Amino acid sequence: MSTLTTKQTNSEAKEFTSKRIDESNEKFKMIAENVTISYGGIAAVKNITMKFKEKSVTALIGPSGCGKTTFLRCLNRMHDMTKNAKVAGKVMIDGIDLYSKSIDPIYHRRKVGMVFQKPNPFPTMSIYDNVTAGLRLNGVKDKKILEEIVEDSLKMAYLWDEVKDNLKKPAIELSGGQQQRLCIARALAIQPEVLLMDEPASALDPIATQKIEETITELKKEFTIIIVTHNMQQAVRVSDYTGFMYLGDLIEFRETKKLFTDPKNELTAKYVQGQFG
Ligand code: ADP
Ligand code: MG
Repeated sequence: MSTLTTKQTNSEAKEFTSKRIDESNEKFKMIAENVTISYGGIAAVKNITMKFKEKSVTALIGPSGCGKTTFLRCLNRMHDMTKNAKVAGKVMIDGIDLYSKSIDPIYHRRKVGMVFQKPNPFPTMSIYDNVTAGLRLNGVKDKKILEEIVEDSLKMAYLWDEVKDNLKKPAIELSGGQQQRLCIARALAIQPEVLLMDEPASALDPIATQKIEETITELKKEFTIIIVTHNMQQAVRVSDYTGFMYLGDLIEFRETKKLFTDPKNELTAKYVQGQFG
């Protein structure tokens, strides 16, 4: 771990960040531009710009309350449902502003799936019905199509082998780790292109966590993944890029390896060295 010899300001680190990421010529699936999110007039996320490369994993790290969940939720317009929340700025998916009045928010939001911190399957529904719930809401009735999607989604979530003979079992009878992979399968069933995950393993034991991390590593071959984690080792293991947030600001955003081994900002350096949490 290198120590910082020169004091660099936030803006220097930010400039460095965006320059590096802009210079590469891979495709960006999603871009958040100058996003500010306030609750009752108080900003919880301050003017954040971040670009997410297609088929990569980006981790968001930072101390509790720094705005990670708040930022993640703006990426699929989830604040629309929160009365006191206001989102300013742009969120582009495939070059189209998710917040533009002229787009169909349902169509574009469907490109983005979400997995929450606590596994939240529909408890009384079977495994099968959990996976198909979103599709049925969207009017898919063909049994053969539904069955195919159930199998594909459960395979992608690395749960199929464990549940294929018990698809009618209530979701609640699965272990916590299996429930979370079921929630991943449920999110994948509606065929999103981006997957948002808010501390998906924080409620799980180490073995279940490892399974989720393996799943993420496989899923990035197909999907663009943005994951919030308070576990720095997890960010190192699963992500290609990491953004460090502090008090609503994006302090530094770079390739994961570089952010952890050669942080450009003093705050990032202190955080990744575990000097505060
Ligand atoms: P993190 O996920 O990094 O722990 P959050 O995004 O949950 O942080 O919270 C960022 C800040 O916004 C915190 O100060 C939190 O109290 C506040 N906040 C989060 N949700 C709401 C809400 N619905 N209403 C008011 N304030 C909120
Ligand atoms: Mg959070």
